[in-house]
Amino acid sequence: ALGYYQVVKENRNLYNMVQDLKGNIRVYCRIRPIFNDGSVVDFIGQDGSLVISDPSKPQREGRKTFKFNKVFGPTSTQGEVFADIQPLIRSVMDGYNVCIFAYGQTGSGKTHTMSGPLNGSTKDLGINYLALSDLFQLSSMRKDITDYDIRVQMVEIYNEQVRDLLHNDSSTTKLEIRSCTADGGLSLPDATMHSVKSTADVVKLMKLGDENRVVSSTALNNRSSRSHSVLTVHVSGKDISGSTLRSCLHLVDLAGSERVDKSEVTGERLKEAQYINKSLSCLGDVITTLAQKNSHIPYRNSKLTLLLQDSLGGHAKTLMFAHVNPEVDSFGETVSTLKFAQRVSTVELGAARMNKESSEVLQLKEQVENLKKALANKE
Ligand code: ADP
Ligand code: MG
Repeated sequence: ALGYYQVVKENRNLYNMVQDLKGNIRVYCRIRPIFNDGSVVDFIGQDGSLVISDPSKPQREGRKTFKFNKVFGPTSTQGEVFADIQPLIRSVMDGYNVCIFAYGQTGSGKTHTMSGPLNGSTKDLGINYLALSDLFQLSSMRKDITDYDIRVQMVEIYNEQVRDLLHNDSSTTKLEIRSCTADGGLSLPDATMHSVKSTADVVKLMKLGDENRVVSSTALNNRSSRSHSVLTVHVSGKDISGSTLRSCLHLVDLAGSERVDKSEVTGERLKEAQYINKSLSCLGDVITTLAQKNSHIPYRNSKLTLLLQDSLGGHAKTLMFAHVNPEVDSFGETVSTLKFAQRVSTVELGAARMNKESSEVLQLKEQVENLKKALANKE
């Protein structure tokens, strides 16, 4: 059994090395189907190129070309999208931190990609569900080798305040973020943590989280498009050689990226817009600063980046989905979404790193602790 275990382990390490060489920030684009008028999309290439054209200009003058790691067209299914990111998701079970974002204007398909429709069959459910059900499968496949524990938290960031979406009375709890993640501590120690064992557990929690988001949106008029929601999956594991791993997967449905005309909104709506602007531009700044190998990364400038700190560093794997509503009247927002995404995609980060400690290291740590205790007793 141990021989088989070694082969599996080495294959997995090799696989992860290949994954790392691809660079650990990837940008995918997903185009929503059209519901009303014509599309601005001219061409989607197998190589990740995307050509759109400005509807107000003659064909040749209005063309713009972008290049991403991959572009999913309007007919792509949830299953196709998931199949592509499955290896990334699975690397969480080998000790990598992974972060997946959905970026784009309101109505471009962010929630469709991340959650999918929650009231119906499970057929069209999105990444949140498919990722967890895949992690369960993997955990059961590896159960002779590694003992895994999977837990989830779900919060919302609205106007720079963090709210627990899995708490029954979430309206009253404002959570503090701790940036002590280097020592393995939780960044949201007070957010409800649920252990999940089956896909049924996951659906139940996703619905609860969604309801808690909706409750407040009736009061504040579709608030969900103006807050970021973050589902965090915490994985810990111990394998038969005694090695342990601890990692997390952040699945983020960002607030709508649309620019708000400041001359048209006031009061609460203006405040919301300013908070969203600030946190989305902070996210861009953090990614750019990471690429410059700058030692000071401005995580603290927004709640979003502070919360995702452990999964945005050079040692994590990051994937951004830039969502596009291809309809003609969204052209302006589409261009700004694609420009933001293009800026992120040119970023090169260092290789990702596993949060895994071998049994040797664990033994040495234990010895150090024992020696410290012996020393303390002497004194
Ligand atoms: P966002 O979260 O970005 O505001 P939604 O995910 O709510 O946008 O999508 C807006 C509408 O478009 C929803 O009714 C959603 O079901 C639909 N939609 C989005 N993307 C797709 C897709 N790929 N296939 C089918 N319907 C989609
Ligand atoms: Mg949404």
